[in-house]
Amino acid sequence: MLNLYEKFLKEFDKKLTEYFKEQSEHICCKEGCSGCCEIGDYPFTQLEMMYLMQGYKNLPVMVQNMVRNNLMQIKSNRVSTHLFYKCPFLINNKCSVYKYRGITCRTFGLAYVCKDNTVKTPECAHEGLCYSKVINGKEFLAEPVKENLDLLEITNSKLAKKYKLEFGPSRSLIDWFP
Ligand code: SF4
Ligand code: SF4
Repeated sequence: MLNLYEKFLKEFDKKLTEYFKEQSEHICCKEGCSGCCEIGDYPFTQLEMMYLMQGYKNLPVMVQNMVRNNLMQIKSNRVSTHLFYKCPFLINNKCSVYKYRGITCRTFGLAYVCKDNTVKTPECAHEGLCYSKVINGKEFLAEPVKENLDLLEITNSKLAKKYKLEFGPSRSLIDWFP
């Protein structure tokens, strides 16, 4: 299944690269910027999680320990399942498992149309980053990506069906760890 998932990701990433190109005038992402990994709930399906853990296994032991420490700290400080947190895989402002990151992670930075025709904008739009110049109050003054990039939509998309992927349930990243 992970082989097929990798094939799926190759096509999905290709499509995202086009979207990022199309939207480039609104995108502020650059190396060292990690705001999108610093506060969130990071939904991951079971399949994405299996892939992410492959990345974890490939990390040097020292980095694995750092991730584990982050996990323990988040778990012990988390008083409600609804609280957002910093991703435990973010090490020194970089994703330690970049190749293995989740589907939602890959879409960070893009604004896209949702089911009800509203536009989902990145959180950093309110911090002067992606799309901040085309948001006027609640109004969105640009053309967003025309595809709904919500995780549930992607896991049920034609592309996912092409590879007969079974993603399994989705949970906040931290809740995959006992
Ligand atoms: S999406 Fe926003 S916070 Fe994340 S890397 Fe891009 S500019 Fe930075
Ligand atoms: S897995 Fe990587 S890209 Fe995704 S939220 Fe965590 S640090 Fe960010």
